[in-house]
Amino acid sequence: LTLPRSCIISPCIKQNQNNFWVWDACSDALITFDKENVEDEMAYIVENDLVVAALTRQLDSLSENVQVKYRSKVVKYTWPMPSQETDYIPWVCVTLANGETLQTKLLIGADGPNSMVRRELGIPTVKWNYDQSAVVAALHLSEPTENNVAWQRFLPTGPIAMLPLSDTHSSLVWSTSHSLAEELLELDEERFVDAINSAFWSNENQSDLIETAGSLFRGALSAIMPSAGSPRQLPPSVAGIGPKSRVMFPLGMGHASEYIRHRVALIGDAAHRVHPLAGQGVNLGFGDVACLTQILSQAAFNGKDLGAIQHLLEYETERQRHNLPMMAAIDLMKRLYSTNAAPVVLLRTFGLQATNMLPTLKEQIMAFASK
Ligand SMILES: Cc1cc2nc3c(=O)[nH]c(=O)nc-3n(C[C@H](O)[C@H](O)[C@H](O)COP(=O)(O)OP(=O)(O)OC[C@H]3O[C@@H](n4cnc5c(N)ncnc54)[C@H](O)[C@@H]3O)c2cc1C
Repeated sequence: LTLPRSCIISPCIKQNQNNFWVWDACSDALITFDKENVEDEMAYIVENDLVVAALTRQLDSLSENVQVKYRSKVVKYTWPMPSQETDYIPWVCVTLANGETLQTKLLIGADGPNSMVRRELGIPTVKWNYDQSAVVAALHLSEPTENNVAWQRFLPTGPIAMLPLSDTHSSLVWSTSHSLAEELLELDEERFVDAINSAFWSNENQSDLIETAGSLFRGALSAIMPSAGSPRQLPPSVAGIGPKSRVMFPLGMGHASEYIRHRVALIGDAAHRVHPLAGQGVNLGFGDVACLTQILSQAAFNGKDLGAIQHLLEYETERQRHNLPMMAAIDLMKRLYSTNAAPVVLLRTFGLQATNMLPTLKEQIMAFASK
């Protein structure tokens, strides 16, 4: 499987994404990331079914060495106890709901944000629930367009994002208060579509003061850097939604203080869970997989025990070094954009506009996000 640079869990197709537009509903300050800033496609938006189908094909091709146990639930783990007398560490024992037991020299805990592996190992975890849920849906656009821009607007209640899937379809991730999310799920299709279009187009959250200060600042920046910035574009309008595609997820953040123990490594949301505002959740997990694969390949090449703590430590250090700054940045964004208090709106307006005019900084942000 070629790992996509970005991945969205939503129903539909795979699409190259060449531009990313993010703007603030309280001031209209915007930042754009476009193809000129990076060497090739900025990212791919891939529906979850495609990722799963590709992985299943890969697993099928490895059937001599890999056995997949579908519809199995792990009910118990028995952890190895390192002994004082010998260097040998016993294997992990896994008990399935059907009573079957399996032994492994390395257990990879990829069991999501409520990871039983993490819980049973007693790994301390920093976590909290956000005051938001995300409503996702497949969107039909009003007319076919060259749909290669990911749009995200920060509303005071949370970000709404429209991600391209094909010329006629996009995917919605609308993070908002729990109560509004519940209301959105209850709306009939026509009113839901109106709510989406209005969330992207309405100026009801803007104030004259912020608008004036923002345009003065923008004017001053343009005088210093006349060629910087992109002409403003508008997101496509939405005409309908896919059948039964509206679903809601509560949002939270979590980070395991340790990713590894003897013979165990946590990956993906079992180790770290983030707000979807940066579309980075799966990417962080893919990064874990790539790093662990590389370290385990080296260990296997050198004839080492795959579950030995020495090389698992390398995995933990490398991934925490990448994941923690990304998680902190995402959480900061969530907090910075969860208010419409004028001083904060001014601060983020100036920050966003200034960043938008600094191509080198934007390139660095993109490079970090795609690692
Ligand atoms: C609304 C929303 C939008 C998102 N958008 C994006 C995006 O645009 N881009 C992006 O990169 N990320 C996005 N994410 C994040 C992404 O969905 C997660 O990061 C990703 O799904 C985590 O994958 P995972 O395999 O680690 O965990 P999960 O997807 O949670 O999978 C864990 C699996 O383990 C299984 N499991 C758990 N316990 C057991 C057990 N005891 N026995 C057997 N099986 C078990 C579960 O059934 C599940 O299948 C979004 C998340 C949300 C909520």
